[in-house]
Amino acid sequence: MPAFDQLIRDVPDFPKPGVVFKDIGPLLADPIGFASCITALVAPWRDVPVDAVCGIESRGFIFGSAMALAMQTGFVPLRKVGKLPPPTIGVDYDLEYGSARLEIGAQGLPAGARVLLIDDVLATGGTLDAGRRLLEQAGARVIGAGVVIEIDALAGRKRWPEAIPLRALLHC
Ligand code: IMP
Repeated sequence: MPAFDQLIRDVPDFPKPGVVFKDIGPLLADPIGFASCITALVAPWRDVPVDAVCGIESRGFIFGSAMALAMQTGFVPLRKVGKLPPPTIGVDYDLEYGSARLEIGAQGLPAGARVLLIDDVLATGGTLDAGRRLLEQAGARVIGAGVVIEIDALAGRKRWPEAIPLRALLHC
């Protein structure tokens, strides 16, 4: 078991009662833990041509941009609504209470770009699914996805197409 799994802190009842929040703060603050996490995130894609790593706001930016540097690709952010200047492309998705929107710069990716989609946590799967739909709408080809933590009990993987590899470093 890699050391970085010891660096993720469970925070009960955050952000609301009944939720156990996975806090990656100690992992990011640990130079060896963070480096080994990035090495492990990059490893499955070593022999796969990738044009860009796309990270979901906000913690997906941290892991995705470090991966892009390691893989010598560009990094493209998928942002919450209203953060990017126009022109943008967006998708709406449902949250447990209400809805949200993810956006990408309309000129952010060349048509047919082969991209990896990265986030910190896969919970119910709605966010990652929205990121995939957005990238496809933008004309990119999502060749895989990676998360640091997959919360198995929430079955988010069921929302992800089986034909696209989805790698999780840790399951809880
Ligand atoms: P989902 O859409 O339910 O899969 O939730 C995933 C999104 O919510 C990701 O963008 C995560 O950053 C965030 N998230 C959900 N649960 C946690 C958690 O326990 N720790 C940190 N982020 C979380």
